[in-house]
Amino acid sequence: DISVSVLGIRVDRLTQHQALDYIDQLISLRREHSEEVRCQQVITVNTEFVIEARRNTAFRACINEAELVVPDGMGIVWATRYLGRPAPERVTGTDTLPELAKLCAARGYRLYLLGAAPGVAESAAERLCALAPGLQIAGTYAGSPDPTEEEPILERIRQAQADVVCVAYGAPAQELWIYRNLSRLPAAVAMGVGGAYDFLAG
Ligand code: UDP
Repeated sequence: DISVSVLGIRVDRLTQHQALDYIDQLISLRREHSEEVRCQQVITVNTEFVIEARRNTAFRACINEAELVVPDGMGIVWATRYLGRPAPERVTGTDTLPELAKLCAARGYRLYLLGAAPGVAESAAERLCALAPGLQIAGTYAGSPDPTEEEPILERIRQAQADVVCVAYGAPAQELWIYRNLSRLPAAVAMGVGGAYDFLAG
């Protein structure tokens, strides 16, 4: 079994490379079968996520039902070792985003950057284009996780013809935003990335 349960929270024991290969498969599957294939959620779990999920049942359900759950924090990797079912390595959102951008550039997948303060996603997009030449940024938009903004945000993403949507609204808001909108999200994969745009934008 690829998964291990850390205090009731599922973690998939994949390397970053394996996680990206899996994301690649999800995107190409949707590209082949288009709208029939629902958007899939990818979650990077750290210790704070596990603590929050212990008391937040919606957040717990969202993690345990996600298509892919990778260990963002070293605390999670240690826990999996202690449980005798070790995750091979940390797979952080911040480290994975540039690699995801390279995958998108190589395969012609379109990346949408949602969230963070106004202007930050644009700076992060510039940085990602420098790191991954040829990358197609489908769009960037700060928006807000407020439910009243969902419909216009989904419409923007639809217009942008995105394959992958990264969401930076902080945990657990970004994961719950994706979870709520999964059946309507017009993309193959959606992933919460926390402070990754801020990090990239420097
Ligand atoms: N954020 C946002 N809208 C909100 C709350 C947060 O755009 O209502 C952004 C914030 O600007 C930052 C990111 O979400 O870019 C969260 O970063 P943080 O490091 O707090 O998240 P964590 O990594 O702790 O999940």
